[in-house]
Amino acid sequence: MTEIIVIGGGIIGASVTYRLALAGARVTLLEAGSLAGGTSGASFAWLNANNKPPLAYHILNTGGMAEHRILAAEFGHAPWLHLDGNIEWAAGDTDHAALLEKVERLRNWGYQAELLTTAELRALEPDLVPPPGVSEVAFFPAEGYADVPLLVGTLARAAERVGATIRTNCRVAEVTRSGGRARGVVTESGERLAADMVVSCVGRWSGELARAAGLHLPMEPTVGMLVVTAAAPVRLRAVLNSPTINVRPDGGGRLRLQATEYDPVTTPEMATTPLPAIAHRVYERALSVVPGLAGTPMQAALVGVRAIPGDGYPVVGPVPGMDGLYLVCTHSGVTMGPLLGRIAAREIMGGIVDPRIETFRPERLIRGSA
Ligand SMILES: Cc1cc2nc3c(=O)[nH]c(=O)nc-3n(C[C@H](O)[C@H](O)[C@H](O)COP(=O)(O)OP(=O)(O)OC[C@H]3O[C@@H](n4cnc5c(N)ncnc54)[C@H](O)[C@@H]3O)c2cc1C
Repeated sequence: MTEIIVIGGGIIGASVTYRLALAGARVTLLEAGSLAGGTSGASFAWLNANNKPPLAYHILNTGGMAEHRILAAEFGHAPWLHLDGNIEWAAGDTDHAALLEKVERLRNWGYQAELLTTAELRALEPDLVPPPGVSEVAFFPAEGYADVPLLVGTLARAAERVGATIRTNCRVAEVTRSGGRARGVVTESGERLAADMVVSCVGRWSGELARAAGLHLPMEPTVGMLVVTAAAPVRLRAVLNSPTINVRPDGGGRLRLQATEYDPVTTPEMATTPLPAIAHRVYERALSVVPGLAGTPMQAALVGVRAIPGDGYPVVGPVPGMDGLYLVCTHSGVTMGPLLGRIAAREIMGGIVDPRIETFRPERLIRGSA
């Protein structure tokens, strides 16, 4: 039986572990902290292929959206998955023209994209109030969002049921190598674990993990803040992506807010208690489009670091010059995680390379073997 170590217990590692365990591998997932404690726990988690050019990347994301539906059918009950669409409006005439162009391009690519009048928007989401001047909005009915920690936990438990071992608070300090091949790992506590294959799913830490294997992987992480409100007396089911604020439901009546304009002034170390000034500004913006939020306090601010490989695109596949090491690292990992889990497991267990990842292989970025 193939012995595999998966490093990292976010959406990518959990998806890979689940598919490998189902395929019959003996898998051990090693997570430095807690499951979904990294970027997966601080994500806007919008499931989409909305603005993901070029076509190869769009296709990978639409495949990711489809895989969420497959996974939901597989489990029979998918309380983490919310596919009630996404609404977008533009700031002015120029931006509106760009929005119409995007709708047209996506339709030509076979993607569901519609235009709604504000009256139709009111019928769909009565508590959303677009700014004056907006008379038409775009609606993407197949999009939605996921409750990521719930999904990660579900995948981990399902993997355990088919024999996987999940170990949290277990940081990998080194990938052991000999004869140009990864042989296993050494944990921070000095434990040595041997494996036929090591799969790195460490997200924003992929550069460090590559270094621990004697390789160089350039990363371009960016930082974002999310604000979570207390339960609000508003009805919202879809995701909203607007020029000033993004809003989506966050369970139990809470809303999750994001204003990417503040990303450049958000730092990974930023304290979130008491709530930082940026959180208040994000909340003010949300009030202008969801006025029913007035009086509902903020509950938390979360800072997340996006796992972005050097050229912005996913890195999926065996590491050149280092047999036995497989890398999966991407932004939009919530959208694509379950699909990349399936794709990686098929390649690792069956040698089958999914054509959708052919342009996203590690050799284009990774340098220097040990
Ligand atoms: C603000 C923000 C908004 C986002 N919005 C969206 C969105 O709308 N839609 C979307 O699809 N994606 C979105 N993303 C991106 C998405 O959240 C990430 O791509 C995804 O969560 C990455 O998952 P991951 O499993 O690769 O990484 P992570 O969730 O970070 O998991 C990696 C894990 O590896 C562990 N680890 C690291 N080093 C080691 C080690 N040496 N040993 C053991 N374990 C280790 C970490 O503890 C961590 O738990 C967003 C991200 C951010 C920050």
